[in-house]
Amino acid sequence: MTAKGDMVYCWTNSSDIKGECGGAVTSLLQHALASGMVDGVLAVVKGKDLYDAKLELITDAAEVPKAAGSLHCGTLLSAKMVKKYLGGAKDMKIAVPVKGCDAMAFYELAKRNQINLDNIILIGLNCGGTVSPIVARDMITDKYDVSPDAVFKEEIDKGQFIIEYNDADGNHQHKGIKIDELEETPEGYGRRQNCQRCKCKVPRQADLACGNWGVIGEKAGKATFVEVCSAKGAALLDSAVAAGAVTTCAPEPKGLEIRAKVEASMLKLGDKARAHQFAELGEGSERLAKIMKLSSRCIACRACIENCPICYCVECSTAKPHLVAPGQNPPDFMFHLIRFAHIADSCINCGQCQELCPMEIPNALFMHAQQVELEKMFGHTPGQNMDLPVLAFAEEMDERARLNATGSDMIYENVFGEEEQ
Ligand code: FAD
Ligand code: SF4
Ligand code: SF4
Ligand code: SF4
Ligand code: SF4
Repeated sequence: MTAKGDMVYCWTNSSDIKGECGGAVTSLLQHALASGMVDGVLAVVKGKDLYDAKLELITDAAEVPKAAGSLHCGTLLSAKMVKKYLGGAKDMKIAVPVKGCDAMAFYELAKRNQINLDNIILIGLNCGGTVSPIVARDMITDKYDVSPDAVFKEEIDKGQFIIEYNDADGNHQHKGIKIDELEETPEGYGRRQNCQRCKCKVPRQADLACGNWGVIGEKAGKATFVEVCSAKGAALLDSAVAAGAVTTCAPEPKGLEIRAKVEASMLKLGDKARAHQFAELGEGSERLAKIMKLSSRCIACRACIENCPICYCVECSTAKPHLVAPGQNPPDFMFHLIRFAHIADSCINCGQCQELCPMEIPNALFMHAQQVELEKMFGHTPGQNMDLPVLAFAEEMDERARLNATGSDMIYENVFGEEEQ
């Protein structure tokens, strides 16, 4: 019997499953569906090509193996899809593979009663980062000198972005370039900017956290490292072992050490990227001026709102004529201020508002920079657990009364001391 905190090497017993590592994730998802623990699996499957990841709700267990493998260009915001199209899992049990940002989105929607986490099994995937499909194609053409259409596999391993492809003579080739090197190019190749800043590398808020870090020795490449993060995760793993769907063994002690070291160094890289990217945005009024200048490209298409996991209001304030004058292009800066005010305490840095902005406005950078400042003030990190967002503690009527009585708009205790107010 496993319990929260246990760590194992795990692999599938099915020859139909061609997993990224040990195929454990696919087997666990398949077992959850076949055994009736869930009604459906919301998996990420290959679309037109390997740059095109898409979500698919699978309800036939025999179909689950088609989702095996990792697609490093896919960020699909599964949580918002569950809310929008699957009734927030209110009446349906679903198992979902999730990267850190996906898992965080599930928590932010669950604490707002938009998703029923009791009906969801989250199978976490460690995540070193993703690459935008457009950037991946350009980068492979330019830096690898390979046609992106000739590539049949991509992976991020040991700090490199590696591609496998067939050359003009049909010979199997592979080529890797260090991610650091790619990210230093003036073109900004490599992982998405928000992934560079991400510090949710092992998603322990999921029920299981699965990856390849720490799998060494004879099991290297053949097993998945699974960390049990909840009683629900333990029950799924035990049930899958009992049914013969997967096999587990104790991890190599050295593997545990390596995994911890890699995670720590990824977190350091996240801190470094934050320091660098936030410094480029400047501070105080300089930062505001930069944000206003870049936001002036906005065409009010609302893609940032549509795709933000925290934005789901039926009547969005940005569409209220007394707050933002309708029909103006670019919209008044109030459009962006409203989003900053409503979201900044809860932004999970998923990058969707930037990825899908047609005007390439670095919205996620703006919002994440503010979230980090709010986290310093209030100690609240979004997406980790069911703790309520900072704004949930602001009582509007009380705040108005205090503002009228004191003339101060400080809604939090001044942690910096009087002189810096
Ligand atoms: P499989 O049996 O192959 O199952 C993989 C599952 O992942 C499938 O259910 C599929 O639907 C789902 N999936 C595929 N692509 C995505 C996606 N983009 N978003 C959400 N779900 C997806 N592990 C590490 O230890 N270190 C890393 O740096 C690391 N980076 C990763 C980056 C990405 C973008 C992804 C998707 C995974 C990453 N992983 C990383 C996890 C690793 O690649 C394997 O997914 C994990 O070890 C499970 O292996 P498996 O053979 O059991 O999975
Ligand atoms: Fe992975 Fe983090 Fe990027 Fe999400 S934000 S895709 S968890 S690196
Ligand atoms: Fe994701 Fe942007 Fe919303 Fe933050 S503001 S949660 S980065 S979509
Ligand atoms: Fe709701 Fe504000 Fe997002 Fe509009 S901008 S959907 S009002 S949270
Ligand atoms: Fe403006 Fe970009 Fe948001 Fe569209 S996605 S409303 S252009 S910031």
